[in-house]
Amino acid sequence: MCYDIAEQNRRTAFRAGLSYRISPGEKYKAVKIMKQMRFDTMLLHGQGAGDKATGSTAVPIYQTSAYAHESAEKLEQIFKNKAQGFAYSRISNPTVAAFEQKINALEGGIGAVACSSGMSAVALSMLNILSAGDEIVVSSALFGGTIDLFSDLQAFGIKVRFVEHMTVEEVEPCLSEKTRAVFTELIGNPRLDITDIDALAGLVHSRNIPLIVDSTTATPYLIKPFGHGADIVVHSSSKYINGGGNSISGVIVDGGKFSWDFERYKVLAGYKRFGKFAYLASMRNGLWRNMGACLAPMNAYMNTVGLETLSLRMERQCENALSLARCIEESGLARVNYPGLESSPYNGLAKKLLGGRGGAILTLRTGSREKAFGFINALKYAFIATNIGDVRTLVIHPESTIYAHSTPEQQHSAGVYEDTVRISVGIEDIEDLKEDMIQALGSQKEV
Ligand SMILES: *Cc1c(COP(=O)(O)O)cnc(C)c1O
Repeated sequence: MCYDIAEQNRRTAFRAGLSYRISPGEKYKAVKIMKQMRFDTMLLHGQGAGDKATGSTAVPIYQTSAYAHESAEKLEQIFKNKAQGFAYSRISNPTVAAFEQKINALEGGIGAVACSSGMSAVALSMLNILSAGDEIVVSSALFGGTIDLFSDLQAFGIKVRFVEHMTVEEVEPCLSEKTRAVFTELIGNPRLDITDIDALAGLVHSRNIPLIVDSTTATPYLIKPFGHGADIVVHSSSKYINGGGNSISGVIVDGGKFSWDFERYKVLAGYKRFGKFAYLASMRNGLWRNMGACLAPMNAYMNTVGLETLSLRMERQCENALSLARCIEESGLARVNYPGLESSPYNGLAKKLLGGRGGAILTLRTGSREKAFGFINALKYAFIATNIGDVRTLVIHPESTIYAHSTPEQQHSAGVYEDTVRISVGIEDIEDLKEDMIQALGSQKEV
């Protein structure tokens, strides 16, 4: 899990329980090759690919709970992170480890921890450093489940400050002596606002606060947030990373650059000796493991297979989304919100951070709730489903579903209105998608 060549770091990571699959010699070789590899090649080769023992090109599925060892001493060594090996799949599993290595390499982190869902990844990325009395500053335009989760945290004595726009101007006045983390989504789902994380990181780092970024809707194909100041990256890998809409899962990746002040981050103090691995060591040996939010081996396998085609899917999905957004905008049948369009206030940031791409989600304002429902019901191809990142096009009316628990104020600041429809664009033939959307919008004219 550690890609740092320095022997010191490798040993530290190992003792922290973060390195357990690749033998030392193999690791050095892997590091060398990984450094030369470009993104699309890395999706198929390098760490987390195949199985060295048998030559299997696909990662084997270790569908087991426990691992037997030859002696009580050996199991003791493994439990104490003094010997390589596996003990119990809630703590570590080879199939899950392969997925963690792959996603970590793609993001360019120092290690990753896979979770049972995107929600558990979001929750643990924060709880790993928080104690009662702490404050967090978060975007008000977050995914509905994340907004609900942050509201839940208040019962544990964590104060949450929601900020409408994650800009330096709006975030700065919300930071206090007690702020312990700032959390944002890279491309907000569904407001589709892009956070200028370079600027935000500059601000929060000047206050010794880490920036935690949910990069689910961007994926490492569009941006590697560690290169733009993010300290921790989380994903709901149920979405684009899996790609096939077949497994719920999440992952937390540590960029390894934040220097933790162990006076301020008391939860991490017990892991001080692990230096830059303190955050991951605490996660793996503490809350994550004790909460049991581990990823199932089968789901890790589905993600690893899905990742192989991440670039191809994202390229097509972003292209389809732009083409569809343009077509609907030109038709004048609905108001279109898509960061890839010149009309989006975030088009400049899409150019700066995402190589000009706008992701694969768009939202429409149809004029009324009735028209939104009528449009959704008139579509031939899109599935009416609460998900994104599937190869199939999916549509949903967020206000009556994902944001059903939110207040109207919360909905509006998340970009959700009664006439909003969210479209997660798939890889279908774009002409079919355009024809279908236009006919479905056209049929709502008289409603
Ligand atoms: C879906 C989603 C989540 C939650 O992930 P699950 O895998 O559904 O638990 C968190 N953040 C974003 C941006 C999402 O789209």
